[in-house]
Amino acid sequence: MQTITFIPGDGIGPEITAAMKEIVEATGIKIKWDVQLAGETALRELGNPLPEETLASIRRNRVCIKGPLTTPVGTGFRSINVRLRKIFDLFAGIRPCKTYKGIISRYDNVDLVIFRENTEGLYIGIEFAEGSEQSAEMLDEIEKLYGTRLPQDSALAIKDISVRGSTRLLKAAFEYARKFKRKKVSAVHKANIMKLTDGLFLKIAKEMSGSYPELEFDDVIIDNMALQLVKNPEKYDVLALPNLYGDVISDLCAGLVGGLGVVPSANMGDNLAIFEATHGSAPKYTGKNKANPTAITLAAVMMLQHIGEEEAANKIENAIANTIAEGKYVTYDLKPPEKRDKAVGTKEYGNAVISKMEELS
Ligand code: NAD
Repeated sequence: MQTITFIPGDGIGPEITAAMKEIVEATGIKIKWDVQLAGETALRELGNPLPEETLASIRRNRVCIKGPLTTPVGTGFRSINVRLRKIFDLFAGIRPCKTYKGIISRYDNVDLVIFRENTEGLYIGIEFAEGSEQSAEMLDEIEKLYGTRLPQDSALAIKDISVRGSTRLLKAAFEYARKFKRKKVSAVHKANIMKLTDGLFLKIAKEMSGSYPELEFDDVIIDNMALQLVKNPEKYDVLALPNLYGDVISDLCAGLVGGLGVVPSANMGDNLAIFEATHGSAPKYTGKNKANPTAITLAAVMMLQHIGEEEAANKIENAIANTIAEGKYVTYDLKPPEKRDKAVGTKEYGNAVISKMEELS
């Protein structure tokens, strides 16, 4: 029996993860849920927002599903999500964005999977403040090495694209495309301007594409990608992007399919993965049996695929797709505004998905 670290999370987390867990168990597969705390709940109950037991559990089980965690604004602890990503070197942010019939969105034919590099690029956090001694030194060094004098009142940031970082992200994207019989991988970049950094990412992508002859490969400049995704999202399939572009394009793609409430995600490292919804802890709905558990349940679908339980994963995804398409037993956010009074709660939606699964099998 597979043991999985289960973090209920903060805010709406405990309610949506409870619904998800029941749906997963209704497939008949046996999972041992190793319940652990993190975030505000862990701080309140154990005095630490990221307890050592939680880290040890993730390290041991290598698969974790977590509800959203609240990050205090301004003061308090740093984002636990960011810390988990760093501690476990979760280099690939994977976000499938798919339209399901019945979800209110401008498009009806989107089926994209985003692979965002999670650890490098412009997000390494090396910056030099305007007017500081370090930036003055950096400006001198840049002039010496590059022959360009930048304005003295510049703030600077370092962008780091490495062979290792790009290779492991691109390999994850190509391997995923192969495993799930997708048609195409697109490498997204700005190598026309950043010839050495994005150029390196692109060079590695092009070379790697040769090892996957069954997959179509193209490369698209990031600004054109934004335009193409809004005009013709159905032309794309698996997208691989450096960190910053991946961050922006992930949200753009969530917008194409009806918003963060229905989009799951995985953060994948070497042989270790954490699955979650893309939305946050929506504190105003805590304990109200109102939140939509679709995104976390689709994250469970990704998790089941990851552990080789594809039949159970397909069953759940089908049941969700059919429940949403019928539109009868869905949460408030999946109802058109004039029918919101007919919405059901988190628990009832979960039960409707389970009934649908039984009906379809
Ligand atoms: P949020 O996603 O929690 O909520 C924004 C709004 O979206 C909510 O008020 C609600 O109207 C709607 N919403 C979100 N999820 C929903 C669901 N499942 N069903 C129905 N409606 C839903 O974003 P926020 O308010 O910016 O963040 C709240 C907290 O969550 C913050 O502390 C933030 O740091 C944290 N957060 C955590 C994660 C994570 O754990 N991965 C991700 C994003 C935000």
